[in-house]
Amino acid sequence: MAGAEAALQLADHGWQIELYEMRPAVQTPAHRTGDFGELVCSNSWKSLLINTAAGLLKKEMEMMNCRLLPIAYKSAVPSGNALALDRQIFSQLLTREIESCPNITIHREEVREIPSEQTILASGPLTSEALTRAIIKLIGTSHLYFFDAIAPIITADSIDKDRVFARTRYDKGTADYLNCPFTPDQYHAFVDALTRGKKYHAHDFENDFFQDQDFNFYENCIPLEELARRGVDTLRFGVMRPVGLADPRTGERPYAVIQLRAENQAETAYNLVGCQTMLLQGEQKRIFRLVPGLEKAEFLRLGSIHRNTYLNSPAVLNENLQFRKNPGVYLAGQLSGVEGYVESVLSGLLISRIIAGDKRLLPATTISGQLWRHLITPVENFQPMNANFGLLPPLAGNRHDKSRKKELLAERALHDLRTFLDHPESAIT
Ligand SMILES: Cc1cc2nc3c(=O)[nH]c(=O)nc-3n(C[C@H](O)[C@H](O)[C@H](O)COP(=O)(O)OP(=O)(O)OC[C@H]3O[C@@H](n4cnc5c(N)ncnc54)[C@H](O)[C@@H]3O)c2cc1C
Repeated sequence: MAGAEAALQLADHGWQIELYEMRPAVQTPAHRTGDFGELVCSNSWKSLLINTAAGLLKKEMEMMNCRLLPIAYKSAVPSGNALALDRQIFSQLLTREIESCPNITIHREEVREIPSEQTILASGPLTSEALTRAIIKLIGTSHLYFFDAIAPIITADSIDKDRVFARTRYDKGTADYLNCPFTPDQYHAFVDALTRGKKYHAHDFENDFFQDQDFNFYENCIPLEELARRGVDTLRFGVMRPVGLADPRTGERPYAVIQLRAENQAETAYNLVGCQTMLLQGEQKRIFRLVPGLEKAEFLRLGSIHRNTYLNSPAVLNENLQFRKNPGVYLAGQLSGVEGYVESVLSGLLISRIIAGDKRLLPATTISGQLWRHLITPVENFQPMNANFGLLPPLAGNRHDKSRKKELLAERALHDLRTFLDHPESAIT
């Protein structure tokens, strides 16, 4: 994500780009293809609404002429107010765009040492082991490892359409989700199976290099069975909450639901929303077939767990996102401590602005500006950050309409960013 955005941006500015990608010859544990911009887990780029942080971030990126967003819009599948992509169409369109760019030369090979030329390092959360070792050589061991879990995908044909129902929460927008309704007995049996299910352990899938690391998960990508273990009601008040989802056949709200979201424009495959898991493969098939409507589910992809690497950026980078020990190298994407597809694209956009000559920090009232600051502001326990309104400074005074707080924050951000972009000489703090 970050590398593709930066390459296209800088190529537009007339730079000659040497783009290194190790796939398909060397794969990561999560990617399947050799295409650029492959979405390894969810196909969602989150909300488009301006009163959400994800929606505001996309608007800001549009104002900065983001190159990947228009491709994402072209690849969209129906998803209410969110931007969900047909992953195949997106990565194929992006690959075509990069391949046809005269200023980009593509090298399909693994980078094993940090290059001596000016470089953007955007090798992602699944950076290859050789390159990780090279980074350690440069900065010591001041980086951490995480593990992430991804959700299963099933065929549309294998869903029992008589048991599930199409509905969007509170009927907002089109009914893009299929809902699998649980009775109390079905829910308890499912939670019980999840908590007893056999799961992977670190040594089953990682080599010695990573074995001494503990499991850690992003709070918003916790495996379903881990959530189930936190308490019998955790799931039905969280990812399986049924509010706003009355079953149209009975008019009743189910005890809990699992939502299914189309994976592609043809709606031939569905993702089990929020069901990322680290259960063993056989256990996943057995347990997810307990979900009402999925008794005969055919799995196109099973959930799995993956390493997720990022660096303690504020400790090793300067303001312009260059390694202090090697200013010829910039750090971008998830590896630098932004979290999420869109945030990673933003990160590539930021670096390309810096390299193209505009080194001014973006306004502190914007999500983009705050994500940049996140990467360069030392904190005790640095963790990856996604777009959220908590990043933004409060509105001035207390005479604004509290119910419009998010809209007002968004209006302020877009206004300040517009002013900033229109006045290239201004110094904004
Ligand atoms: C398993 C998993 C699931 C995730 N799920 C989500 C999700 O659902 N939603 C979300 O918003 N974010 C998710 N993320 C987080 C993150 O947003 C994505 O991983 C995103 O693609 C990161 O963008 P990036 O540009 O940093 O890296 P990537 O998009 O991964 O790009 C890095 C590229 O570098 C290549 N590479 C690695 N090492 C080398 C090397 N040595 N030489 C040459 N090439 C190399 C890789 O093959 C890859 O193509 C997930 C991450 C992981 C690991």
